[in-house]
Amino acid sequence: MRLTPDLTPEYSDPHSYPAGVAWQDGQYIPVSQAKISVLDYGFLHSDATYDTVHVWDGAFFRLDAHIERFLAGVERLRMTLPVSVPEIREILHNCVSLSGYRRAYVEMVCTRGTARDFSRDPRAATNRFLAFAVPYGSVADDAQMKRGLHVTITNTTRIPPSSVDPRVKNYHWLDLIGGLFDAYDRGGETALLLDSDGNIAEGPGFNAFSVRDGALITPEHGVLRGITRRTVMEIGHEQGRTVREGTLTRDALRSSDEVFITSTAGGVMPVTRIDGAPVNDGAVGPVTRAIMSTYWAWHKDKRFVEDVVYPSQET
Ligand code: PLP
Repeated sequence: MRLTPDLTPEYSDPHSYPAGVAWQDGQYIPVSQAKISVLDYGFLHSDATYDTVHVWDGAFFRLDAHIERFLAGVERLRMTLPVSVPEIREILHNCVSLSGYRRAYVEMVCTRGTARDFSRDPRAATNRFLAFAVPYGSVADDAQMKRGLHVTITNTTRIPPSSVDPRVKNYHWLDLIGGLFDAYDRGGETALLLDSDGNIAEGPGFNAFSVRDGALITPEHGVLRGITRRTVMEIGHEQGRTVREGTLTRDALRSSDEVFITSTAGGVMPVTRIDGAPVNDGAVGPVTRAIMSTYWAWHKDKRFVEDVVYPSQET
């Protein structure tokens, strides 16, 4: 390993960042020092893709699936990564290892970059890669995990897939952020957005599931194919449940037996109130609990995990 960054938070900085380790231009640096140019189209035009994987108790969860989704996004955006896949794996491992975090949120990013003459032709730009590891964070806090989230279905429509392909993980978040403010104004803790037909799409950083008669239903169109969503569908199959991707109306969601949301940032998170009204009896349901329990059990399952080697373990 090339460098041990100083992880002391920079309190003199008016913007306080979480401590962590980033990789940029061949170097490991404190994440607060990782920068992209204001001229990068990733910043100016949101012309970028990324992926987020988590490390839980010292091991990556489904790293291969996250890298695969990232590479598919890079290809769909017609970008060229300046690093190879083995290098990406090494960089992500080193960011976590150098941070020392046993529970981390790890992001890999490819931006369009820019061209020397600031050409507006995206083909002229040199694409950039960076990665970082910061402390693990969740959509739901501890109290919300126990009693379930209170969600508001907003009237904000998710950007339609005909405009921006939601399968390419992207930073086009103004609809999601607008939805969040709408939810806060209406007493909610987070938001679910609708697709252009008025059916449930997804929320800021998560997919949604409805449980009815033991079966799982999740929106099919206009959503990111979440890795947690996929994991939950696999768990559902393993538990012998019917699992369906399809249309989920507002009314169907509200009248579900149980509702939960899924994200790398938090895993499987119960929802017990929608638009101020309880889902069923307002308690976290047995199917949600069973899926949460298997989801975390799979974090010890060799099929899905990959250990990080920390400096103290090196021989
Ligand atoms: N939908 C959106 C818009 C997201 O940004 C995310 C994750 O950040 C998800 C869904 C959940 O995907 P995953 O389970 O892969 O974290």
